Amino acid sequence: MPVQTVTIKIRVDRCKKCLNCVRVCTAFDGVYEEGPDGYPVVARPEECVQCLICHTVCPTNAIVHENYRKTMLINPDEAIVQRYRNMI
Ligand code: SF4
Ligand code: SF4
Repeated sequence: MPVQTVTIKIRVDRCKKCLNCVRVCTAFDGVYEEGPDGYPVVARPEECVQCLICHTVCPTNAIVHENYRKTMLINPDEAIVQRYRNMI
């Protein structure tokens, strides 16, 4: 369920196309998708639960949440559990 719409951008000047962000996103439907050029695409920003995990796994600090509230709406432990629930 969407929690808050945030503006998320990928800095392609930093992105290494590792797609860690696509794999780890804890949002129910996933915020990111792999784009045709190999860069992640922010497909569903309204699904973001602000868990910060994508920031944690990005090796180059290429993800920017522009109107991020600086408060987690879900804690990282709960986010990981939710991620596994989404997979089963
Ligand atoms: S902060 Fe969490 S929910 Fe939002 S895009 Fe990153 S991994 Fe997905
Ligand atoms: S985790 Fe960072 S470097 Fe890797 S694809 Fe996502 S934005 Fe690019």
